[in-house]
Amino acid sequence: MKPIISVVAPAYNEELVVNQFYDRISSILNKIEDYDYEILIVNDGSKDKTPEMVKALCEKDKHLSFVSLSRNYGHEIAVAAGMDHAIGDVVVLMDIDLQDTPELIPAMLKKYEEGFDVVNAKRKSRDGETFMKKFTAKMFYKVFSASSGKVKMPENVGNYRLVSRRAVEAFKKLRETHRFARGLFCWVGFPTTEIEFEREARVAGKTKYNYKTMINYAIEGLTSFTTAPLRWATYAGIFTAVIAVLYLIYVLVMAFTHNPSLQPGWASMMCVMLFFGSLQLIFLGVIGEYLGRIFNETKQRPLYFIQEYIQTNQGRQ
Ligand code: UDP
Ligand code: MG
Repeated sequence: MKPIISVVAPAYNEELVVNQFYDRISSILNKIEDYDYEILIVNDGSKDKTPEMVKALCEKDKHLSFVSLSRNYGHEIAVAAGMDHAIGDVVVLMDIDLQDTPELIPAMLKKYEEGFDVVNAKRKSRDGETFMKKFTAKMFYKVFSASSGKVKMPENVGNYRLVSRRAVEAFKKLRETHRFARGLFCWVGFPTTEIEFEREARVAGKTKYNYKTMINYAIEGLTSFTTAPLRWATYAGIFTAVIAVLYLIYVLVMAFTHNPSLQPGWASMMCVMLFFGSLQLIFLGVIGEYLGRIFNETKQRPLYFIQEYIQTNQGRQ
């Protein structure tokens, strides 16, 4: 029997792209002769026709699998559900909107055959994305790699990647509620490489991410991989304490030598107090972020519930 490639694609309100995705991905996978394939679409609680459309495809094509979650859990959880249900010896994770060029899959497979467990698709360009999105993404990678210690996340690598069965099994063991898949795949290790591609614009439909969700996502990524922000609070505290002591010395010296010329500077005092007040609030917030995560993780809830699962006939004949 041939080995199986599973292509996992989460979908949330993607009725405009489902059929295009299916056509394009099938035509590519059909041409790969050494492998059988499964196309696993994870419906993340869509409110449009996405589930019906995927189910219609399942009826006419045995290569399709369909996992439907009980509600909208978010992209990261949908990825986890996809990884849990993929049957392939090798799994390709991609977005359903065809921004992740499917034509790259044969090149990724080649790298896999050379012995790599994880093949990341690195974006050369980000067509169709705003300047702000590109800028914030760049800043995020910078901050992340400066603070995450041993986990080095490659720049401009999204979720599009090929993963071997043993790396998938490792990924499946990480059951945290606050998830950041691209970091988790780095964390599990194994031989990793990347290939470059031009990320395309969405074929249809709209992005599900706005600035608010993107900022939250960045905070999620940072806090689930590093406690460095807590350390920053300590550093900031030490730094301002040193400044305060130096300033105190200056004040005393002035008081003794220029007596009584030292004027009380109320306006500047207010600024200083406001500054330190807000610094304390910011770091209280940072502590709160971690506290909230401890709260959520200790509940140990299951990541998701499945409403429906249709498994491909592949590998069961
Ligand atoms: N997605 C999901 N659940 C969500 C939001 C998005 O499964 O709550 C899926 C979406 O259908 C798509 C992928 O995640 O396949 C990436 O979403 P999108 O294209 O909106 O993000 P962008 O590419 O703009 O970062
Ligand atoms: Mg997209």
